[in-house]
Formats: sequence, structure tokens, C-alpha cells
Amino acid sequence: MRFDVLTLFPTMFAGPLNESILKRAQHAGHVQMHIHDIRAYATDRHQTCDDTPYGGGAGMVMKIAPLAAAIRDVTAQDSVQPHVVYVTPDGEPLHQAMAVQLAQRPRVMILCGHYEGIDERVRTTFVHQEISIGDYVLTGGELAAMVIMDAVARLIGGVINADSLAEESHSDGLLEYPHYTRPAVWEGQAVPEVLASGHHGAIATWRRQQRLLRTAQRRPDMLKRISLSATDRKFLSEHKLLE
Ligand code: SAM
Repeated sequence: MRFDVLTLFPTMFAGPLNESILKRAQHAGHVQMHIHDIRAYATDRHQTCDDTPYGGGAGMVMKIAPLAAAIRDVTAQDSVQPHVVYVTPDGEPLHQAMAVQLAQRPRVMILCGHYEGIDERVRTTFVHQEISIGDYVLTGGELAAMVIMDAVARLIGGVINADSLAEESHSDGLLEYPHYTRPAVWEGQAVPEVLASGHHGAIATWRRQQRLLRTAQRRPDMLKRISLSATDRKFLSEHKLLE
């Protein structure tokens, strides 16, 4: 899969994309991450990429010409047409199923806004999907783009062990169970006995129950959206967690 990011601040990406799993994923050829400087497409002497808003008011708006030139030039750098995403607080909130869908695309281009945002005509002309990473406002789209790239890249085949993705929080409507590693007892706190029992069936039951408990206590809204088995329902009723 190929990501192309269009940004006014390309150096922001250097650290997060070149560490740990994302670094290895790129070296192994599972994902390509290309960062493009929109300013390189400005044609005036000062490489101006923003201007005052029509209608007045505070802030600046990113101009259409450098952005349109960048989108067209970067699109032509590969024969695969990109799925163009604009990151914006008024987009659809990011969720795991959306990351799964994006991971199936061969090429995704992400446009990062700054200041008051981008000229609306860029959105209506080039953008296929608008994504928000949460109900708050960031100074720019760079961190949002990195969040999306991270959430998507780890779902691409070969990037991480497929077993790690199973039963993960948000993968199937439940949160994940708690994890422990050595030592067995730390400052008087022991690891749950069942996990050291070697009984795979008992461990699987305990983990399922922990997922149900955690989701019911922290995210009852999620529990309402999934279909529970009779065993799940019985367990939750016994803990007075079923509405
Ligand atoms: N004036 C815009 C509004 O009220 O919706 C906010 C602009 S924000 C200061 C500048 C840029 O940051 C946006 O164009 C967008 O690319 C990015 N951004 C800010 N918050 C975001 C969020 N929650 N999710 C995704 N992108 C965001």
C-alpha cells in the first residue's frame, strides 16, 4: 500500500514514521509513505500557500492553486489512482472499521489542512472522504494524518502478527482483556491464577469474560451494538451489567 501525504510541514513526519513498527513495515516493503511539501507547488517568489478569507474574519485559508497542483502532480507519480482523504474536524469520526477499509486500498492520499483550513473547492473537486480523529480542533492535519497512517498500516498483512489483531479492542465490538507478564507477583499483586494454569479453555473463558466486563463498565454504548451469545448474556446478568 502507498500513502501520499500533502502538507505544509513535512518535517513533522520524520520521527513518528521512522520508528518501531512503521519503520520496519516500510523497510519490509509492506507500505510506502511519501511526504510531499505543498509549498513546493506555490509559484510566487514567497511560495505563498495561504490567503485571507473571502467575507472577512480571522485566520488564513490554504489557497487552491498550490494544493490542486500538488494533488495532480503527486497523483501522476504512480499509475494507481489514490483515494483522497481530507483530515478535518467536521469529517466522519475515525473508527476501526474505517481503518480496516482504508488498509484494503492500494493507495491513499491525505491532505493536511492548516490555519482555518483549505479552500472549499479543493474538497468538492478532489476529496473522496473526510475524516476527523475526534471532536476537538488541532492546529493542523499532520497529527491526524499520522494517526490514520498508524492505525491503517498495522492492519496491512505482514506488518504485525495476525494473532495480535484478534480480540483486540474495537476489532469485534468489545474491548480487550487485561495483560500480564513476569513477575507472577509484584508488590503483593498476583497475576490471576487461571493465566498460569495452562488450561487453554479456562483461559479463553476468563479472557472473554474480562472483555465483557471491561466493555460493560467502560463502554456500555459498544455493548448495545453487538450481538451477545446466551453465555455472554448470562455472565453479564450475573454481574448485573446487562440493561
Ligand atoms: N476552521 C476549522 C473548523 O472549525 O472546522 C478548523 C481548522 S484547524 C485549526 C486546521 C486544520 O487542522 C484543519 O484544516 C484540519 O486539516 C486539521 N484538523 C484539526 N482538527 C482536526 C481533527 N479533529 N481531525 C482531523 N483533522 C483536524
